[in-house]
Amino acid sequence: SDSSSARRIRPLGEAVVNKIAAGEIIERPENAVKELIENSLDSESTIIDVLLKEGGLKLLQISDNGTGIYNDDLPLLCQRFSTSKITKFEDLSSVKTFGFRGEALASISHISRLTVTTKRKDAVHGWRAFYIDGKLAPATGHGSSAPQPCAGKQGTVVSVEDLFYNVPSRKVALKNGAEEFRRILLLIQKYAIHNESVSFSCKKFGDSAATLSLSSRFRRIDRIRQVYGSNLAKNLLPFEVYGGSLLEGFSAQGLVSNANYASKKTVFLLFINNRLVESTDLRKNLEEVYSEFLPKGASPFLYLSLNIPESQVDVNVHPSKRVVHFLHDQEIADLLRSHLSKVLENEDARRSYHVQT
Ligand code: ADP
Ligand code: MG
Repeated sequence: SDSSSARRIRPLGEAVVNKIAAGEIIERPENAVKELIENSLDSESTIIDVLLKEGGLKLLQISDNGTGIYNDDLPLLCQRFSTSKITKFEDLSSVKTFGFRGEALASISHISRLTVTTKRKDAVHGWRAFYIDGKLAPATGHGSSAPQPCAGKQGTVVSVEDLFYNVPSRKVALKNGAEEFRRILLLIQKYAIHNESVSFSCKKFGDSAATLSLSSRFRRIDRIRQVYGSNLAKNLLPFEVYGGSLLEGFSAQGLVSNANYASKKTVFLLFINNRLVESTDLRKNLEEVYSEFLPKGASPFLYLSLNIPESQVDVNVHPSKRVVHFLHDQEIADLLRSHLSKVLENEDARRSYHVQT
């Protein structure tokens, strides 16, 4: 045939489509942990334990004490776009759960060997199911792919083994389990600081003690002290501001470091309607304010939790949900800037008063 002629269009096979989609959500073990922690939080868990072997590449296991999953729902659990959280597109404008796309478990099942053990509160026993490529599959040594009854306490355990076993490029890129462990630990720390009524732990497979263990008795400030040290904990200022008539329904709460504290790099924990998100724009705005109070080269710590009316937030920007769009972003940035200035100025004034008297 003529080499300059156009190529023919063909639909990709289902397996390729699913693997490509999975790659968008799960780039590295950290992304899987985020999805699984969010599922545990969505199911009203108050205890979330994470166990990792080789930074999650060999094994990544999340146990929770949440509602559990109906036995009848297990065949659909890893099917793409199957969810218990929304039923119609309009629901997206008021979605309060982290999940809604029904893609996380499906994606994970396409790039790992996935086992789910779950027991609902009033069930006599639990169920264990094994998944490959979105579907129930027989576990090693079993003939049937049907979920098996098992003992267990209320909640769900999701075990992800051999992540990226069938994605050679990812496997090569992610050789360093230590780096993956470090990232996952940072992620769990952030969730633990925001969700102060939930106890979190993170353990390396084979270790006797957990690397991170924050019981539900630990208040936010205790958690920050445990994670970032007492020097930060004693240099924190409360941050609280409410939107005026233009920003009706908006509020921000948090803890921010004072002018005595200096970090090498800015630590910015940003939650919008309880979602952990990134915003370089807000970060830059707030860093600018700090630059008037901190010596050169010193950076702040900020934990901010913003509440924006659900109808003004679009969480459906990217499958990873790392970025959200919201209305009035410039006004919100201005409000946060001016309030931060006030908080830091007041502290400045208070300190110089103490020094003088
Ligand atoms: P989504 O969270 O967007 O619904 P997922 O693939 O993450 O999609 O999960 C699919 C469904 O599986 C959820 O809607 C929920 O019903 C159920 N599920 C997942 N993880 C848990 C869990 N830890 N506890 C209870 N139910 C869960
Ligand atoms: Mg989910």
